[in-house]
Amino acid sequence: MGKVSKGIKCSAESCVNPAVRSVPIDQAREAGIRTSSTQRRIYLCESHYKALKKARRKEERLERWRWASQG
Ligand SMILES: [Zn+2]
Repeated sequence: MGKVSKGIKCSAESCVNPAVRSVPIDQAREAGIRTSSTQRRIYLCESHYKALKKARRKEERLERWRWASQG
């Protein structure tokens, strides 16, 4: 995940906030963020990036739980 230069807008659908981070598009889609971008990496504003992080944390917890219940 990289920082984004100024003047770039969030790639999420109908979002006009300035982007703060670039992320792989797969990650954004998994987090439920809609985008019409066709790039492999998209740009996210602070609130969309937070939403993505939140979604990923949830996923990691599930993963850990799955592993734990196997052992
Ligand atoms: Zn956004």
